[in-house]
Amino acid sequence: SDGLAVSARIAPIGSRLILLLVDDRTEARRIEAIRRDFVANVSHELKTPVGALALLSEAVLDASDDPPAIRRFAGRMQIEATRLTNLVQELIDLSRVQNDDPFEDTEPVAVDELIAEAVDRCRHQASAKEITFVTGGTSDLYLMGNRGQLVAALGNLVENAVNYSPDRTRVGVAARPAPDTEGRQIEISVTDQGIGIPERDRERIFERFYRIDPARSRATGGTGLGLSIVKHVAASHGGEVTVWSVEGQGSTFTLRLPAAQPSRDRPRESVEPP
Ligand code: ADP
Repeated sequence: SDGLAVSARIAPIGSRLILLLVDDRTEARRIEAIRRDFVANVSHELKTPVGALALLSEAVLDASDDPPAIRRFAGRMQIEATRLTNLVQELIDLSRVQNDDPFEDTEPVAVDELIAEAVDRCRHQASAKEITFVTGGTSDLYLMGNRGQLVAALGNLVENAVNYSPDRTRVGVAARPAPDTEGRQIEISVTDQGIGIPERDRERIFERFYRIDPARSRATGGTGLGLSIVKHVAASHGGEVTVWSVEGQGSTFTLRLPAAQPSRDRPRESVEPP
């Protein structure tokens, strides 16, 4: 029936226990709508490069006596194939961070190694644009988390910083103990001198497939999934990701994540007996 789908929960308020009645139906509908949107978006995003590949292969067949034209079409086919590969890879990453329990595979992760790995993933793009990485303030900090997921999250932020910046600018990556957390959390920030993010888009950029300028994002091989992966990794580690930006001047994305506790989690240095 379409009657009420109510569940009861008992919650403490101060020293009293109260009974809460919650309508689960609204929540179920909301989740169903998100799922439907997601499937529609994925289908659309897959159709675009697949459609282009179909047209280009037809063009190649028609141009059998024009080798330079064939070469041109083949080059564009390569771009579309790369786009498709990126999209599938990001979908796999997204489903992995959503389904894996990050705590199953948790270890202390040295922040300077994490930053080096994330920056390394974008070396090629960065050097093509003559972008300089500036890293600092990271000595002797350890996070507690899933190494693969943390590299994916920070890598996405660094990649965006490179993609949405003009040539010959700087991208800074820095870490420090988060203020007011007594060493329990660490902040890693990625700062660029790029195009910036308009105020009205700052919340929405973390949604799956949301892009401010779809044409620009596609041109850089973007999928619109990167920041939703970052947000998910941060949340599943009990942290968060925030953004600060001035349009036309640049952006800073900050990841706040749990620190490894020195006494408990950190790898011990081996002590030689005298
Ligand atoms: P994409 O694959 O399109 O980069 P993301 O989820 O990583 O997808 O980012 C969503 C959108 O947020 C991008 O399309 C872009 O418009 C904007 N964005 C992300 N990072 C930056 C940045 N560092 N500077 C300016 N805009 C950014």
